[in-house]
Amino acid sequence: MTSAGTSAHTARAELTGFRGRLIDRDDVEYDEARKVYNAMIDRRPALIARCADAEDVASVVRFARVHDLPLAVRGGGHNGAGLGTCDDGVVIDLSLLRDIDVDPQARTVRVGGGCTWGEVDLATGEHGLATPSGIIATTGVGGLTLGGGLGHLTRKFGLAIDNLLEADMVLANGDRVRASADEHPDLYWAIRGGGGNFGVVTSFLFRLHEVGTVIAGPTLWPVEQTAEVLSVYREFLPNAPRELNGFFAVLGVPPGPPFPEELHLRTVCGVVWCYVGTEEDAAEAMAPMLDALPEPLLHGPAPMPHAALQSAFDGVYPAGQQWYWRADFVKEIPDEAVEAHARIGAELPTWQSTMHLYPIDGAAHDVAASDTAWSYRDARWGSVFAGVDPDPANVDLIRDWTVEYFDALHPYSAGGAYVNMMMDEGQERVRASYRDNYDRLARLKATYDPDNLFRINQNIEPSA
Ligand SMILES: Cc1cc2nc3c(=O)[nH]c(=O)nc-3n(C[C@H](O)[C@H](O)[C@H](O)COP(=O)(O)OP(=O)(O)OC[C@H]3O[C@@H](n4cnc5c(N)ncnc54)[C@H](O)[C@@H]3O)c2cc1C
Repeated sequence: MTSAGTSAHTARAELTGFRGRLIDRDDVEYDEARKVYNAMIDRRPALIARCADAEDVASVVRFARVHDLPLAVRGGGHNGAGLGTCDDGVVIDLSLLRDIDVDPQARTVRVGGGCTWGEVDLATGEHGLATPSGIIATTGVGGLTLGGGLGHLTRKFGLAIDNLLEADMVLANGDRVRASADEHPDLYWAIRGGGGNFGVVTSFLFRLHEVGTVIAGPTLWPVEQTAEVLSVYREFLPNAPRELNGFFAVLGVPPGPPFPEELHLRTVCGVVWCYVGTEEDAAEAMAPMLDALPEPLLHGPAPMPHAALQSAFDGVYPAGQQWYWRADFVKEIPDEAVEAHARIGAELPTWQSTMHLYPIDGAAHDVAASDTAWSYRDARWGSVFAGVDPDPANVDLIRDWTVEYFDALHPYSAGGAYVNMMMDEGQERVRASYRDNYDRLARLKATYDPDNLFRINQNIEPSA
């Protein structure tokens, strides 16, 4: 059974106990339901199964397996490569699985597999608590966590996976299990970085930390000063206290408040800070970098709730833009790399296009490379090059810049890349991203998903 029409029809007949919503090509909701965040991705699944609970998920997994249909799993739908959807197969859409249960005494939050980070941050923030996530509120908890999770709290509290205590999952055979340190510990190891390769997570349990108001915002310099700023940053950040996170960026200034009008749409370089602590301590922590550099165009860090920081970029990056991604892990930034950043960063093709260097140190380095599937614990940064624009006519422009930037910097990288920020770049690239952990992952894949049902992801092929 491969015909799209037949599978939707068959699904309705076979999934009799299904409590969610089945959407096929004849449904008025179909075109809206098949959209993902990256408008460059235009796939037409045969069936979108919007599941109401874990039992729905299990029934759709069994259905896809029995009929040998491609199966995609959609969390927040943010993935750059479009790995939350597929052509002609079945999409398990988790967007109805959105329960959030904060336990302030236990300092944990249980989160449905289809939540986005913004809603989780708001719920935990009410208790002055947070868990590490990313930098955009609309990103899915599912994909971001299973791939690792780099963000504003990485240096202080580690990756998202370093705070993942349990995951309730549906496996490829339809069984429902819990992965934790005590139950299926091998699966628990694999899902902390191994992406959606091992099953569908219907709920996550995260550890929470005391994070109320953070001191956050950007410091921006003219893009012509990129070499100077980056040269200071590369020495400064690894020695800064863990409370201070700061990702280096080349970006266009958004054309609206809170940015002063004279900076609107100007290409700049800078650091986006997040300090967990007081304003005085934040200023002291940033001082060595700021003192070593010329007066910035703007120094914006100010107290704000962590959830407000997490949604600060949402207006800049609404759904429906064209995105083209490349990424690398970085251990050092030699002078030649600084020079390439200065040259190609200055040629930003559109104001939403950007380059970020996400710190990977502090608490992220407390975990050994083999403790979780996420192997690059010795990297210092995750670099990401993203060409972004609303206009499909600019796709070549943003892609060419992204690829040129990546090609120039890749020789100075550590090898693999953060899987959540890669496009479809082939098996060797996936293997390079897991390094020594790849063979163990492939063996676990053979145990938990021997037929590679879950293959619409940065795929780990099963191997005995
Ligand atoms: C604007 C933007 C900003 C970003 N910022 C950050 C950042 O700051 N830090 C960071 O680490 N990453 C960031 N990312 C990358 C992000 O982590 C990935 O795009 C991630 O895949 C998104 O997860 P999702 O659930 O929204 O994606 P989806 O497209 O829904 O899914 C992506 C992959 O994860 C799998 N998956 C999703 N949910 C589940 C689940 N519950 N169970 C099993 N498999 C699942 C899917 O099958 C698919 O393979 C950003 C992406 C965008 C577009």
